[in-house]
Amino acid sequence: MDVPLAGAADIPSLDKLLHHPALEALSARHGRTQVVLALRSHLEDFRRAALNGNLTRAALSEDAIAPMLAARLAEKARPRLIAVFNLTGTVLHTNLGRAALPDEAVRRVIDALRYPVNLELDLSTGRRGDRDSLVEELLCELTGAEAATIVNNNAAAVLLMLSSLAARREVIVSRGELVEIGGSFRLPDIMRQAGAKLREIGTTNRTHLGDYAGAIGARTALLLKVHTSNYAIRGFTASVSVPELAPLCHGHALPLVVDLGSGSLIDLARWQLPPEPTVRDSVAGGADLVAFSGDKLLGGPQAGIVVGRAELIGKLKANPLKRALRVGKLVLAALEPVLALYRAPELLPERLTTLRLLTRDPALIRAQSQRLRPIIQHALGDAYQVVDEPMTSQIGSGALPVEQLPSHGLTVGAVKGRRSSLERLEAALRGLPRPIIGRMAQKRLWLDLRCLEAEEEEAFAAQWQQLQLPHAGGTGRGA
Ligand SMILES: *Cc1c(COP(=O)(O)O)cnc(C)c1O
Repeated sequence: MDVPLAGAADIPSLDKLLHHPALEALSARHGRTQVVLALRSHLEDFRRAALNGNLTRAALSEDAIAPMLAARLAEKARPRLIAVFNLTGTVLHTNLGRAALPDEAVRRVIDALRYPVNLELDLSTGRRGDRDSLVEELLCELTGAEAATIVNNNAAAVLLMLSSLAARREVIVSRGELVEIGGSFRLPDIMRQAGAKLREIGTTNRTHLGDYAGAIGARTALLLKVHTSNYAIRGFTASVSVPELAPLCHGHALPLVVDLGSGSLIDLARWQLPPEPTVRDSVAGGADLVAFSGDKLLGGPQAGIVVGRAELIGKLKANPLKRALRVGKLVLAALEPVLALYRAPELLPERLTTLRLLTRDPALIRAQSQRLRPIIQHALGDAYQVVDEPMTSQIGSGALPVEQLPSHGLTVGAVKGRRSSLERLEAALRGLPRPIIGRMAQKRLWLDLRCLEAEEEEAFAAQWQQLQLPHAGGTGRGA
């Protein structure tokens, strides 16, 4: 079949094209600057095709150019940070933004985005205020501490504590607590960055009070305890607890500083979840400063929270680094209502999204799997086999990696001989308007439904109707 070809001389001018009504409509939507840029690269493609002798006349018509350009502009304007469905089975997934926040926090963030707020204005006196004070009282009530300060994340909190209290001096840490947390938080690196000198004591599996006592000297700035969030040492082990360490520190007038990592504000055992040390326990046990994350078990926005003795918190606030690490109004707008939920612990599993997900009844998750299985099987056709089965979720973000939560969900396998591919399916799910993120294991795609709340089920099911599976044989949709 002969397709009429065109040469470089046939390519219309940019000016002429810009006045076409369809392109004017695109300018109204994306702005002329973007339309000109897109048009230039489109015309560049034409010139290249003309050189290769495969530019068709049909491609040059304005009616053909407009939709191509529209698609190019839409792709460039596509938002990059979007909501996804987290079916990985890890509730606090760092790659997926950790904690999802409760509606009240969402409303407060929207207000703080839209309107001016009293971020650093004391409304009772009309004088300049301190942004930390917006949540300080709540934090003190919830932890028993005297004072608090907030920074960008817990890594920043540790950096600020060490830089403020231990620059050019020694910090004593047990070898068993020199951890690396996912996403390149390595305690020795932070220590170096803060200008503090690491004094390692004990052994990987055992550290005793005497090891700490023996290391204290004229250059000691503080003793640091780090919660070994993401790993567990089992067997012949020994470590020294905060209450055991506190008298030693205070006897030498040295601060006891604790990096609690996830740092729960409440005892999770109350909901049959694996126990995690609480911030209040560390404070009551004699810790002078305790740092923890805002977006791990606490269930709030990304933040690093430090609570403890007022005099030491004052030193952190006076450090110029604090200015560089401070949080913005959006974080405080989200953090305050999340903290406020902890004032009514009995309502927490209902109101705090993270805890609601962690405590979901496995029987309800199973019922949900059974409802969704036929819908998903239908969307995938007979090239894939969808099974509902029990699985185990994890809390994530370093918390309690060995403890797992019974859950339920769907696993998808490729049916042999049907040219189906799990990798293609997984990629297609990632390409949905609201991507569905599962995990691959044992040649199946695992979709743990723990984090799919009932009110999202319909939107989730609708995503499967939009699924495009290129070249996946069988009789399924998009085949
Ligand atoms: C998670 C964690 C950190 C880092 O906290 P971010 O909020 O991610 O910066 C530091 N220390 C411990 C013990 C942790 O578990």
